[in-house]
Amino acid sequence: MTGSVPTHSFDAALASAAYRNALQVIGAVEPRVADAIGAELADQRASLKLIASENYASPAVLLTMGNWFSDKYAEGTVGHRFYAGCQNVDTVEGLAAEHARALFGAPYAYVQPHSGIDANVVAFWAVLAQRVELPSLEKAGVRHVNELTDDDWTTLRRALGDQRMLGMSLDAGGHLTHGFRPNISGKMFEQSSYGTDPSTGLLDYDAVRARAREFRPLILMAGYSAYPRRVNFATMREIADEVGATLVVDMAHFAGLVAGKVFSGDFDPVPHAHVVTSTSHKSLRGPRGGFVLAQPEFSDAVDRGCPMVLGGPLPHVMAAKAVAFAEARQPAFAEYAQAVVDNAVTLAEGLAKRGVTVVTGGTENHLVLLDVSSFGLTGRQAESALLDAGIVTNRNAVPSDPNGAWYTSGVRIGTPALTTRGFGADEFDRVAELIADVLGGTTPTTTSAGEPSKAKYTLADGLAGRTAAAAGELLAGYPLYPGLDVSGQ
Ligand SMILES: *Cc1c(COP(=O)(O)O)cnc(C)c1O
Repeated sequence: MTGSVPTHSFDAALASAAYRNALQVIGAVEPRVADAIGAELADQRASLKLIASENYASPAVLLTMGNWFSDKYAEGTVGHRFYAGCQNVDTVEGLAAEHARALFGAPYAYVQPHSGIDANVVAFWAVLAQRVELPSLEKAGVRHVNELTDDDWTTLRRALGDQRMLGMSLDAGGHLTHGFRPNISGKMFEQSSYGTDPSTGLLDYDAVRARAREFRPLILMAGYSAYPRRVNFATMREIADEVGATLVVDMAHFAGLVAGKVFSGDFDPVPHAHVVTSTSHKSLRGPRGGFVLAQPEFSDAVDRGCPMVLGGPLPHVMAAKAVAFAEARQPAFAEYAQAVVDNAVTLAEGLAKRGVTVVTGGTENHLVLLDVSSFGLTGRQAESALLDAGIVTNRNAVPSDPNGAWYTSGVRIGTPALTTRGFGADEFDRVAELIADVLGGTTPTTTSAGEPSKAKYTLADGLAGRTAAAAGELLAGYPLYPGLDVSGQ
């Protein structure tokens, strides 16, 4: 069976030979690692992966990471390195940045961040360097945060204490790196958040505007990891301009939908934000890593990411970003991105019609957020019960979640990974049926005090096995990396 959605195209015989040989070379040193790599492929092939932040990179992207580029130090920027012999790193970093600029229509791209968090920290320091006036430092002839003396740092810390970040609240789908306490962003900035309208679950731009007027942030953050709707970035920019804030959009989750032009016009962050940060490994389907896009006024400050907050760049990963961005510039990727969203809509409808509460009533992106409290379950119970039945999701808070961030009342489901396998509308409707069956067949265990447990549950007899078998049948129709055989000859 072949899906209607184009998946990776690669030569299965060549890729099989490459991996078989690689595993033999690795196995000669530590066979348990070679075995674990093989086992991971088998596990990924056998799992109904609905984790919204995960995907499957192509064999070309994966192979690009396993080579001698990993051994090269290349601090600095293209053509301006603090190490000798960086001509080939210059080539791949230059290509990755060039592809990123073309893919997103951005004037400037910085592809060194090692992860999404790193991309955010680079962006935040760039905004501080560019936007915060430090008169005493200027007098001392210091132009840049990288040139601060110890006394300057004291001044800066005081100055930072007055800087503010306004971001989406965690239970509305925001991210820890948008000014929350457990992350460095929460220590660099005084934070306040905006949420969603309690009656619709949708972002209320008037409330964001009112909060921004009161709070006067240096940085207005937009972006999310668990909000199932588009965000109007043109409106967010208007709000930022009105209060003199810098708009930073973190598109870590939905970069693939921007690359595939599903999010365009007001919903494309790139023309509206001052700075855009992202991961490369979620819906964008590239290697694990991050990157920053910026308007020209921020480019010099962003270029200082290494050594300001990053260690030496990872040339093997930058090379893989170049390959992934080149893939994403192909028309097939736009078809993939559209299918990701179409599939999410099918999934949301399939769940809603089977009595599952879908937060905001639907989706406009790659994810669906379920409120499982109508089944008497916590997110944790639902996540575990689904896993018992072979369905991999993750629990997630819903807006104003009464069960907090640990147990939660929600489950987040994403379509990027299974869409890469080729799943279409029929398969996602079946997935909705399986999920609804498991939720309906799960009962919380009662504690000794007679209260329903928040963690323990029982599944109806035979349900887990039946569901896992049905999931296995679906997966068998859409093999991951078709034709790739890494077993020894
Ligand atoms: C995943 C995510 C990140 C962090 O990415 P890492 O690569 O795990 O550091 C940052 N911001 C948002 C919105 C995310 O969803």
